[in-house]
Amino acid sequence: MNIAIIGSGLTGSLAAISLAKAGCRIDLYERLSDGELVNRDRTYAITHSSRKILERIGIWPNIVSSLIPFQYLNLIDYELNEKVQFFLNDLNRKDRKFSAVGWIAVHSKIMMSIIDYISTIENINKIPTSVIPNTNNYDLILAADGSNSITKNILKTPSFQFKYDQICITAKVLIRGIKSNEAFEILNSEGPFAVLPLGEDLFQIVCSQSRKKGSINMSSPKSIFLDYLSTILPNSVEPDTIIGEPRSYPIKFLLNYSFYSGKYIYLGETAHTLHPVGGQGLNLCWRDVESITKLVRQPFLKNNKILIPFFYSISRFVDVLSISFLTDFLVRYSRSNINIFFIPRFIIIFILKNSKIARSFVLNIMTNGL
Ligand SMILES: Cc1cc2nc3c(=O)[nH]c(=O)nc-3n(C[C@H](O)[C@H](O)[C@H](O)COP(=O)(O)OP(=O)(O)OC[C@H]3O[C@@H](n4cnc5c(N)ncnc54)[C@H](O)[C@@H]3O)c2cc1C
Repeated sequence: MNIAIIGSGLTGSLAAISLAKAGCRIDLYERLSDGELVNRDRTYAITHSSRKILERIGIWPNIVSSLIPFQYLNLIDYELNEKVQFFLNDLNRKDRKFSAVGWIAVHSKIMMSIIDYISTIENINKIPTSVIPNTNNYDLILAADGSNSITKNILKTPSFQFKYDQICITAKVLIRGIKSNEAFEILNSEGPFAVLPLGEDLFQIVCSQSRKKGSINMSSPKSIFLDYLSTILPNSVEPDTIIGEPRSYPIKFLLNYSFYSGKYIYLGETAHTLHPVGGQGLNLCWRDVESITKLVRQPFLKNNKILIPFFYSISRFVDVLSISFLTDFLVRYSRSNINIFFIPRFIIIFILKNSKIARSFVLNIMTNGL
């Protein structure tokens, strides 16, 4: 099968590898150089669903050494002053043996490993351009050109989208009082706040704040931002030094009404862009890759290629919709500081704290999707 992939971010690149390994001939279109693709300051939470995909593709051994595993995920409801700890025992038995609730990946390292891997595969042809390919040459075209997809604009595929009244600030911070194998998701009324381990005392802060407060923090000296961090982090935890400069980006929610248009299939952030809370974004993108690969391998669809986009859409519907709305729910949960909502919040936290079944249920959705 001849497939064009537009965009070689983490979705498009992994799709290229996965489909090439399924026997397809791939033209991978990208407007940026490899250097520009690698040089992005992003940090991802990798779940077991992604681990399984990377294992099946055969690239997991190339990537795992650059990942930072964590064994504890602390969910803190800042407004209620309550904490729930998810740990290895809350995972299902098969995932537990990997001794990690999840892994943290630094963009430059993971992108570099993927680019190196692509260079070893013969049936991937990289085409450095931003020109949208001619459909006649291909059986399928996968648009993985990001949340501001030009392809989608040209094809006039509508999506449901809105901007959160928030920005996301990311920073690398030396922190004392946290173990190097634990991650935090702190839900406070300014917005969710994640602390992700990067090895030893270094942690990545992913902090969403109202635009007003965020822009104050971004324009203030680092010491002011450190003071803010210490008000959010638990009492025993002390943020020490910010390494490099904090960065910020606006946050939006985007969900396509359709995941395809004719021969074009929308993958990754082109089809769904989520708030960073919960670290679901990249894992959901990679589950798109898994779905399209499974369909392309099916003998019936090999002979009826025209049906692949439709079946793809059906196969992704439940997972994408449920994770998108759960992620958005978490943002709204975090930001609601009206007293009446404290009762259901207290009940949710009480159940999670006291029921292993509830913790396992939530953790397994977060780690394996639906
Ligand atoms: C500023 C920013 C910061 C982020 N930070 C985090 C983070 O810290 N943690 C996290 O989990 N997630 C983060 N994300 C989301 C995360 O990067 C994505 O979920 C993940 O990279 C998968 O994206 P993608 O490959 O689908 O799209 P993208 O990464 O957007 O890749 C799209 C690719 O398509 C290329 N392209 C676009 N148009 C064309 C064209 N016409 N022709 C050829 N190529 C084209 C682009 O150059 C790009 O390389 C961030 C996103 C943004 C925008």
